[in-house]
Amino acid sequence: MLVALAGGVGAARFLRGLVGVVPPEDVTAIVNTADDDTFHGLHVSPDIDSVVYTLAGASDPVRGWGLEGESYTVLDSLERYGAETWFRLGDRDLATHLYRTERLREGATISTVTAEIAAAWGVRSRLLPMTDQSVSTRIEVEGSGGRPIELRMQEWFVRERCEPTVLNVGFDGADVAVAAPGVLEALESAETILICPSNPVISIGPILAIPGVREVLASRRRRVVGVSPIVGGAPVRGPADRLMRALGIEVTCAGVARTYSEICGTLVIDAVDEALAPRVEAAGVRAVVADTLMRSPEVAAGLARNALEAVA
Ligand code: GDP
Ligand code: CA
Repeated sequence: MLVALAGGVGAARFLRGLVGVVPPEDVTAIVNTADDDTFHGLHVSPDIDSVVYTLAGASDPVRGWGLEGESYTVLDSLERYGAETWFRLGDRDLATHLYRTERLREGATISTVTAEIAAAWGVRSRLLPMTDQSVSTRIEVEGSGGRPIELRMQEWFVRERCEPTVLNVGFDGADVAVAAPGVLEALESAETILICPSNPVISIGPILAIPGVREVLASRRRRVVGVSPIVGGAPVRGPADRLMRALGIEVTCAGVARTYSEICGTLVIDAVDEALAPRVEAAGVRAVVADTLMRSPEVAAGLARNALEAVA
């Protein structure tokens, strides 16, 4: 069995490649839920949904998140009531959030609901949320008066378009959260553990903050292989650079290697970063060079094969 630590879009694209080279049933993804939030009373799990929709072949190919060919009739209609509609939720996507919210209200865990949603989309890999408890990423930013203020992840990322300068990042509730059923067991028994090319701070960081996860990864470090989301000194997309810089992490694959060095024995870095391989290895992480820009599912499949072979 293969286990992957996953955020949203970067992870989803990598996982779609992975299930092209191994049987989907052999893959368990442990997915970040610290970006989860409530909009219009509905529980939204952005990273889980990105993974589900992409593995189902239904995600928007350009944006990477949400469903292809969405309409926004409901959201636009909510504007009449002055509701905040900066977090765009498509009409068909809303069905997922309605279903999830109702099941949670009935007492089902997020693990159970995630399995139900994945099955309904025909996803054959096992998707585990990192925890069934509520964990929430908080971005501490410089407020207008110079005073630090705390924003929820989507407030900073979507509403504020990442503009406020980041001072710190925290994961509310992580210290008392319990890994979801199957998470630690999967990590303990996995043949290979992959760290998807996801945001190291706010996608992989929260998973590592769940008690027990870091310890089991450290004990299995030789079986852990990551893919750098930083290529040529910048994220391929998204705000990883701003977050890494705020935490004093160099925005290169070598910075990623140092961040993961205790839990990850091998890092796949992009061909454009080949010259940084010695600096990755200086962090105690073996560097493997490959084409990591996932322009298509085929390229992602090649990348997944390279990652698996790196620890074979
Ligand atoms: P999010 O929660 O939707 O932001 O998704 P993730 O955390 O899973 O992925 C975001 C990260 O994926 C960003 O840091 C990107 O740099 C990285 N990423 C996206 N596409 C690619 C790609 O094609 N190759 C690599 N190496 N990284 C990528
Ligand atoms: Ca996310």
